[in-house]
Amino acid sequence: MKLARMGDVAEIFFTLQGEGVSVGMPAVFVRLSLCNLHCVWCDTDHTWNFVGTPWVHEKDGLPGYQKHCKEEAIIEMGAAEVAEEVRKYECRHVVLTGGEPLLQEEGLGELIAELLKDGRDWFFEMETNGTRLPGDALMAAVGQFNVSPKLGNSGVAVNLREKPEVIRGLMEGGKAWFKFVVEKESDLAEVMALVERSQIPMDRVILMPEGRNVAEIDRVAPWLAEKCRDFGVRFSDRLHVRLWGDKRGV
Ligand code: SF4
Repeated sequence: MKLARMGDVAEIFFTLQGEGVSVGMPAVFVRLSLCNLHCVWCDTDHTWNFVGTPWVHEKDGLPGYQKHCKEEAIIEMGAAEVAEEVRKYECRHVVLTGGEPLLQEEGLGELIAELLKDGRDWFFEMETNGTRLPGDALMAAVGQFNVSPKLGNSGVAVNLREKPEVIRGLMEGGKAWFKFVVEKESDLAEVMALVERSQIPMDRVILMPEGRNVAEIDRVAPWLAEKCRDFGVRFSDRLHVRLWGDKRGV
């Protein structure tokens, strides 16, 4: 499996889920490398914005920001090795995240099978951008899909980011929640049009402010929270950013 590298180790860490329907839940995060989308505001750009790629990121213009060296940003591990790292924590709630984890479906299946060998009560959440439909085995093994379809504010072409058949398949699986990152009021119309087009039930919709620090989140959060109330959908904060800032491994 290709995991995001943090120094000499893989980005596997014990924290609180910071976003979405299970916000606040203690969980072991396993961050996989690679993504099939390249969102301009992505906060895990170390999983895909590699030297030599043409992708654009909003940090590109910042002093000191450089694209990541692929060899230094990825660590290769077998599923059994990853499972061993996960088991170091006294927590059976695992968040499989990325990047886009479903690019490594085979490895994920092996990891889940490896963890389940001990007969303990594991629960798996998977974070995905909603462009790839998991196979039956993963659909059965994962308890919750945190699906985050991307809007125009991601800078990604619509034919790459919007896959109605995948959204439909995830909805039919009955385990998916759909979280949208909102930056400005005009994003809301786009969300609601997508929700209607894809017939996503409103009680499965979550709106979350875009922002990599508290000031950015707070620029959006108050009015977005009011809109959530008025539309009757869930609001999600970015708890990990409030607690720990824009850091890796938290
Ligand atoms: S889909 Fe997610 S991980 Fe991939 S570039 Fe967009 S925000 Fe980042």
